Amino acid sequence: MAAAVSVQLVPLRRLAPVTALLCEALRREAGRCWSELVALHVASRGGKWLTERELKALSKGGRFRLHSQSVQALAEKLIANVDTARTNRTQEQEAGAEPTTRFPYREKPYQTVTWKGQAVRVEGERLVLPNGRTQADLVLPLPARFHGADIRQVELLWRADHYQMALTIAEPPPKPDEQPAPDERAAGQVAGVDLGEVNLAAVCTQDGQALVVNGRLLRHLKQLRNKRHAAYAERQARCKKGSRRWKQLQRQKSRTSAKLYRQQRNILHQASRKVIDFAEAHSVNELAIGDVRDIADGVAKGRHANQKISQWPHGQFRRYLKEKGERRGMRSTLTGEAYSTRTCSCCGHCHPSAPRGRVFRCSGCGTTIHRDANGAANICSKQVYGRYAAVQVKHTMHRQAAAVRVPTRAKVAGSKRAVSPPGDGTPPEASPFTGR
Ligand SMILES: [Zn+2]
Repeated sequence: MAAAVSVQLVPLRRLAPVTALLCEALRREAGRCWSELVALHVASRGGKWLTERELKALSKGGRFRLHSQSVQALAEKLIANVDTARTNRTQEQEAGAEPTTRFPYREKPYQTVTWKGQAVRVEGERLVLPNGRTQADLVLPLPARFHGADIRQVELLWRADHYQMALTIAEPPPKPDEQPAPDERAAGQVAGVDLGEVNLAAVCTQDGQALVVNGRLLRHLKQLRNKRHAAYAERQARCKKGSRRWKQLQRQKSRTSAKLYRQQRNILHQASRKVIDFAEAHSVNELAIGDVRDIADGVAKGRHANQKISQWPHGQFRRYLKEKGERRGMRSTLTGEAYSTRTCSCCGHCHPSAPRGRVFRCSGCGTTIHRDANGAANICSKQVYGRYAAVQVKHTMHRQAAAVRVPTRAKVAGSKRAVSPPGDGTPPEASPFTGR
């Protein structure tokens, strides 16, 4: 079995000027190398396309001021991109459309630099990354938590206003006594997960325990981002494109975006952690996640709703759930979720339209239940019994997605939205939604 690896991101802020310059030179050199490889590949497309081996052979000879394996990594990346494009084009053709995915063709001023494990050296508290005979080694500080780690790969990235390194680290194999006993996991139950925009996730286990993770903070951040973006764009529109002022605004704009993206990532990580902790506490071994992948297809819900949906990072969130779940021995499956929000999980009555607001009221049996918990119960029911309404919600807990300082508006005393305190052990604020 291949060793499990994880990727850890390390921001490189406040680098010595000489180091920052070297980072830039390396990334630019990688861009030059990439552009040449792309040009070679494009030229070969008239006849027999270059293979990875041929591409690597052509890039040999020390023409680039990079480590030879860094050059090879770029050739591998290009071939991987070509393969992905080919797969996508095939899929598009099978769907009966003219393929729109293009094979790589663009020149890049900068490109990510990759160092493979054999080239990476750790000297004390520093990481030494060699760049061939004609270029100096890149020496970066290595945070204490990575001392003694088995580093398989290092990548040098640029993020809006700072460099970042991505370390691929082999995780030590779990000790035998830490692995979940197989029979214990086999006896676990299924939980349905309903992904939403207002509530990031609602989970409901087979025995009716539900958790709703609120995502308003994330939505607030998105709205903030859109507002800021619009403001910058408006100011940019008043200056000449490409001018000094314009570039300055562009930098500020991408810096703001990058920060909000990091905050979003943080929220999604914390929210998925809460879901997985909850699932583990109820000995869940399978997450049935409602499939919302095609929600953006073919719907015109107006400019605002469309913006919300296209910015709803459900794919990212689903990936976090899957990865965190797998570490605790839970598998995840995608389940069709059509009609799950308008079917009553109590009596199975299917309403003609989805409920408005956050509460589901059944006109058939009179149940009042949290809308997303209802959806999650139905997804769970579908996965286990093949039909809706076989799992009932007995108790619902509410959690904020993240214990981050919340924008002032929500902190007004007495506001219902006041966030739960960090640490988050306490407030299963007796839910008004306790379906029978
Ligand atoms: Zn009902």
